[in-house]
Amino acid sequence: MSKLNIVLFGPPGAGKGTQSNFLIERYGLVHLSTGDLLRAEIKAESQLGLQAKELMDAGQLVPDAVVIGMIRNKMEAHLDAKGFIFDGFPRTKAQAETLDEMLDAKSEPITAMLALEVPEEELIKRLLGRGATSGRSDDQDESIIRNRIREYTTKTAPLKDYYSAQGKFKAINGVGSLEEITGRLVEAIG
Ligand code: AMP
Repeated sequence: MSKLNIVLFGPPGAGKGTQSNFLIERYGLVHLSTGDLLRAEIKAESQLGLQAKELMDAGQLVPDAVVIGMIRNKMEAHLDAKGFIFDGFPRTKAQAETLDEMLDAKSEPITAMLALEVPEEELIKRLLGRGATSGRSDDQDESIIRNRIREYTTKTAPLKDYYSAQGKFKAINGVGSLEEITGRLVEAIG
């Protein structure tokens, strides 16, 4: 059976992490979140974590080579996976191209890119709400949140065209109850 490799896409606060949890359980996939991996590096006070922290605290992207290296390691550690959910990766064209190269080498291409769509003011409301309980410093300051959304708009949103050209882009309404949104994702996966 061919593997199910899903890119779960969307701006910060769109619900990628929450929805990933439902999808990994339903389809038995391995969750690859570069944000989670970076926060683990920060917690471990590794060299990589120290370098990434400054950029993350400012709401900027960390360098492509850093996140690509982390994804490569994780994929190699899960060679027998039924598939992956990529959450928060790729975020630039260079990352998307490298991911395609890695997957092409194994003949296990991306199945679909599911893009959760949520209006900006709703994102800010959700992120500030999350910041009150998550302990994530990048969720607690509106100017950092707006920076992250700006990074998304300029560097990440163009990936919709990249995946559209491959016939893999699917827009998903990201507003509604958690169950409704999961239902839309499951329907899109088919
Ligand atoms: P997230 O948990 O996905 O919202 O990511 C939190 C922060 O980690 C982002 O604001 C970026 O600074 C950094 N980050 C996570 N994933 C990536 C990525 N694929 N490329 C560059 N930076 C990333």
